[in-house]
Amino acid sequence: MKAKLESLKALFDAEIKKVSSPTDLDELEIKFLGRKAGELTAVLRGLKNLPEDQRKEIGNFANQLRGEIENAITEIRNQLSGSQKIDRFFDLTLPGTELPNGHLHLMTKAIREITEIFERIGFNRVRYPEVEWDWYAFEALNMPGDHPARDEWETFFIDDKEIGPKGKRLLTPHTSSGQVREMERKELPIRMTNISKCYRRQSDISHAPMFHQFEGLMIDTDVTIAHLKGVLDYFAKQFFGPNRTARIRPYHFQFTEPSFEVDISCGLCEGKGCRMCKSGWLEIGGAGMVHPNVLKAGKIDPKKYSGFAFGWGVERCYLMKPGLSIPDIRELYQSDLRFLKQF
Ligand SMILES: [Zn+2]
Repeated sequence: MKAKLESLKALFDAEIKKVSSPTDLDELEIKFLGRKAGELTAVLRGLKNLPEDQRKEIGNFANQLRGEIENAITEIRNQLSGSQKIDRFFDLTLPGTELPNGHLHLMTKAIREITEIFERIGFNRVRYPEVEWDWYAFEALNMPGDHPARDEWETFFIDDKEIGPKGKRLLTPHTSSGQVREMERKELPIRMTNISKCYRRQSDISHAPMFHQFEGLMIDTDVTIAHLKGVLDYFAKQFFGPNRTARIRPYHFQFTEPSFEVDISCGLCEGKGCRMCKSGWLEIGGAGMVHPNVLKAGKIDPKKYSGFAFGWGVERCYLMKPGLSIPDIRELYQSDLRFLKQF
């Protein structure tokens, strides 16, 4: 029995030298000290079958050997975990884990881009209330209370008990409500862009109940349609690309006279006509020379001054950029990061 223990000790001494990883060490520990099949465990279990005179001596020797093995294993384990710490050395020069990075919303980018384009020709961006008086939204724009033109704007009205001197309150259905406010606020000449949220009771793939418009207004002496045409053309080239042009077609709006619809030449066929545009042109918004009644509402003498105005949807305009294809405009405002991340 003692010989068996001595050969176990020799075997252990040989095997522990080969240990090079925590896994090796675990296997070694199980091999000698394992509860079920450990070699030393088996010897210790067999002690009770020995004659009494040998039991004490062999028992002491076996326990001493177990102590030695346990100490040796603990020592190697410490060394290994020490060296593991060296393996996991913290390298300061490694790049860190990157935090998810956000970016501006597509419409914020569009608004900034449009703002900058007009700033370069002296149009400053202004902002007016989103909750507005009927007077600024309709009345002052040459649309009296019962005028059918009002029906074109599916307006949200505020449910006020009392109606003030400027009429009901409403959510701005268009940015044109800023025109007369700007005339009241500022000395002439005026060159402004008003870009803000608008609200209408409509929701389908090309309309969201909340959307953005931008409005340009210029008032000075001797402002003509040629100035309007020049500004529209400048914008088409800056925003869509140098090969694009703008054209105006006669139309009717209540607050401009004459009024126009504005088209931009198609980017695919450059105005020749293709499947996308049919005529070579894409409709983008409305424009016109400020109606004398609107100038009067802003306390400006229409005999001395003239001006032009134009107003377009930011979403519609931005989605007409080459390479952008968004099947449903409402997706822009559903805050779905999977959608927004693409841009
Ligand atoms: Zn085309």
